[in-house]
Amino acid sequence: MSRLIIASNRLPLKVEKHNNKYSATASAGGLATGLKSYHKNNDSVWIGWPGIIANSDTDKEEITEIIKKEQCLPVFLTEALIDGFYDGFSNATLWPLFHYFVEYTRFNDQYWEAYYKVNQMFAEAILENAKDGDTVWVHDYQLLLVPNMLREKCPNLKIGFFLHIPFPSYEVFRILPWREELLTGILGADLIGFHTYDYARHFNSSVKRLLGHEIEFSNVNLDNRQVHIDVFPMGIDYEKFESCALAVQSKPIQERSKQHQDIDRFLLGGPDRHLILSIDRLDYSKGIPERLKAFKCFLQKYPEYIEKVSLLMLTVPSRTDVEEYQNLKTEVDVLVGGINGEFGTLNWNPVIYFYRSLPFENLIELYSSADIALLTPLRDGMNLVAKEYIASKVNQKGVLILSEMTGASKELGEAISVNPNNINYTADAIYRALTLSDEERIRAVKTMQKRIKRYDVHKWASEFIKSLNKTTKKQEEHKARKISPKIKELIIFDYKKEKQKTIFLDYDGTLQRFFNNPQDAKPDEELYKLLDKLAAKENTNLVLISGRDKDTFDKWFGNRKYNLIAEHGAWKRELGSDWIERKAVHDEWKDNILPVLESYVDRTPGSLIENKTYSLVWHYRKSDIELGALRALELVTDISNLIINQDLEILEGSKVIEIKVAGINKGIAASEYLMNHKSDFVMAMGDDWTDEFLFKELPAKAHTIKVGTGNSVAKYYVNTYRDVRNFLSDIL
Ligand code: UDP
Repeated sequence: MSRLIIASNRLPLKVEKHNNKYSATASAGGLATGLKSYHKNNDSVWIGWPGIIANSDTDKEEITEIIKKEQCLPVFLTEALIDGFYDGFSNATLWPLFHYFVEYTRFNDQYWEAYYKVNQMFAEAILENAKDGDTVWVHDYQLLLVPNMLREKCPNLKIGFFLHIPFPSYEVFRILPWREELLTGILGADLIGFHTYDYARHFNSSVKRLLGHEIEFSNVNLDNRQVHIDVFPMGIDYEKFESCALAVQSKPIQERSKQHQDIDRFLLGGPDRHLILSIDRLDYSKGIPERLKAFKCFLQKYPEYIEKVSLLMLTVPSRTDVEEYQNLKTEVDVLVGGINGEFGTLNWNPVIYFYRSLPFENLIELYSSADIALLTPLRDGMNLVAKEYIASKVNQKGVLILSEMTGASKELGEAISVNPNNINYTADAIYRALTLSDEERIRAVKTMQKRIKRYDVHKWASEFIKSLNKTTKKQEEHKARKISPKIKELIIFDYKKEKQKTIFLDYDGTLQRFFNNPQDAKPDEELYKLLDKLAAKENTNLVLISGRDKDTFDKWFGNRKYNLIAEHGAWKRELGSDWIERKAVHDEWKDNILPVLESYVDRTPGSLIENKTYSLVWHYRKSDIELGALRALELVTDISNLIINQDLEILEGSKVIEIKVAGINKGIAASEYLMNHKSDFVMAMGDDWTDEFLFKELPAKAHTIKVGTGNSVAKYYVNTYRDVRNFLSDIL
């Protein structure tokens, strides 16, 4: 079995130095749990920073030896690299920007250089341990460049990448000076996973707009391979939380921890006592000040709850040496003090504030005792605490108030959803949560439990790996159809062996690259030379077959010795004769269609209409990529209704919608050509959807070749128009 290499910034263990000796303890984070069965299986390995700075080679060796026992390998970072890579680019550039805190985002070339360097160190460490066919799973925003660094050095690795934080909207992502490099870095993977569909669509949008790649059914078509994009909402170790909560709840009161007894005492301390819980790292993305303001607003609006309801707020210290975090801590301290000062009484604190982390069992006590969890991040990739709270509510008597800005809110639809910026609404949500009937609370929690139990962290990991295997298998099949030197040789051998030969070549995207303005895509000298030579070959019919209008084709190739088929077959010009129209038809139909297309041009900046003999074409290559695609869909629906019972059809090409007289396509035109020009060898090359007609209609033994990575019925693939030109020169 192939080996799995996992790479993440931190290793799933903690290395410590006591009395000059190093020791490592496994950490029980969600990722480590989800990947355990893969990591500890056969000779898999986890590569990452051990969390400690090793100053000498002996220290490094010692640490390496210790963590090797846990199937881990270290990437050692110096203090300077941690500054630039971790505190800098990861946490002062990517983290704030990806969470929409543009004002906190720092752009600094030294940060970027350190980030690049550390990503390179990770890639090197992985490559030292990987061979062709192995699987590498790269995690999170600290390692965005690693997938492509691996791909460049070892193209046959199976590479998966998962982003654990949000991917921001294109309008935010585009701000980054290093945006193209980062996207290219991620696209080195075969499979890219996100928590939610929104993150995936933001990523796709950036890829389309910034790199110009086509995306077809969640697959990004790169020049030489497809990358699959999918959604895998990360789960928790449900069983662990459930069983621990059951154990905690069933403990006799006198055997409970001090904390648990304190909670019990609080809840029993007066009539109608309720505990609201919030747990998060002290991070500006978590909306802690907004939450406190909402709680204050709740106490003001609903004073009947004074001395009855407390907010127990556990905030875990995080990035404590960073200025923004220090300021946030001060802001939170002031808010907590203000609320307690204003509303507190001798025997009641409105906010019970812990600034520390708690051991697992204490966390469960909080989860299982709290009546309400109030989780209101301004932005959060997932929010595992929400799922942990639901899993720990073994008696189902809990209510979850959850920010709609969290990834988890997509799965936990039965929670009370709030916009955390709406303080007044969040205050009302607390009131609603307190007044829900038992029946309503239980029904909601049960439904959520069922869902997150099924899609737990083990399932998350296995679904990702399954999808990665499926993706790479598809790529293998695709690769098998790529023109290899051997296949090329066979086709050329066939060409030389046969007597009479015909070569059909599409023009745009096949012989020439795309330009924003179609008229700029005129043939260059190199192409003329190549085609001239090909056309001069003995017993060889060279046929250029295109959707281009006849006049352009005539202008470009009128004085050349090529057979020409224009407008998908509406016009043809065979060697030695004049242009012939396929059939004479009236074109009154255009009077109805043209105004519709004009209205689309008005509403879609950058689009234009082309009027051909037998068709009207709406081009949208120069328009906004998403608006263009949306309008294309609308246009097809509008036109479909208009052309019912008319002898017309709609063709969807590459960034064009063509409405044309029916019964004309490249397949029919090519078949007719072959009827009149018997050929023993037939080859066709084309890049877009309209060429599929050609591939389908040609005789079974024809060599059909698709340009690009999109789906096709063609037998073989090449990557770009440059490969087509190279192939044709090899035939000469
Ligand atoms: N957590 C913890 N100790 C604590 C408080 C929280 O281990 O004292 C854990 C909590 O159980 C959860 C994680 O920290 O698994 C927080 O994950 P989440 O996705 O909610 O937020 P993140 O910190 O990753 O942004």
